[in-house]
Amino acid sequence: MNIMATTKETKVKPKAAAAKNLQDLFEDALKDIYWAEKALVKALPKMEKNATSKLLKNAITGHLAETKEHVVRLEEAFKSIGVKAEAVKCDAMAGLLEEGEGIMEETEVGAVRDAGIIAASQKVEHYEIATYGTIAAFAKVLGHQEALKILLKTLKEEKACDEKLTDIADTNLNSKAE
Ligand code: FE
Ligand code: FE
Repeated sequence: MNIMATTKETKVKPKAAAAKNLQDLFEDALKDIYWAEKALVKALPKMEKNATSKLLKNAITGHLAETKEHVVRLEEAFKSIGVKAEAVKCDAMAGLLEEGEGIMEETEVGAVRDAGIIAASQKVEHYEIATYGTIAAFAKVLGHQEALKILLKTLKEEKACDEKLTDIADTNLNSKAE
């Protein structure tokens, strides 16, 4: 998509398969985050291998296990609304992961790369927090109680992961990276 071309227009013309209501938008968002979580399952092991701090390595390994669970939970959320689980490429997560790769290439192994990995990881977690917060709100309005419960459980873990990363950055890395 060419952003420069579309921003000139006042209104974007919807595609034929565009969401017509909140239910459609909810389903599209679920497909998006389903792709994102699966991409993270593939990306996190490399981040763990590139980290030096034991604390950071453990945090990433722990969150990898949770992320695998997030994938399963999304499948349960799809099932609860009678929609087939389907992954549709999430451009935002693809970009964040690409940026994470770049940060690893641009940093020396050790405290500096660790600081870069934490920064990239927190951007990912913030994206997930924003997404789960939004789709949980959609689920609530649409009356999808079961999906709502599932999404809130994951949201809580994303927030906890983000806080853990902040703690690791504060106590372990920021001083060493200077
Ligand atoms: Fe997740
Ligand atoms: Fe996460």
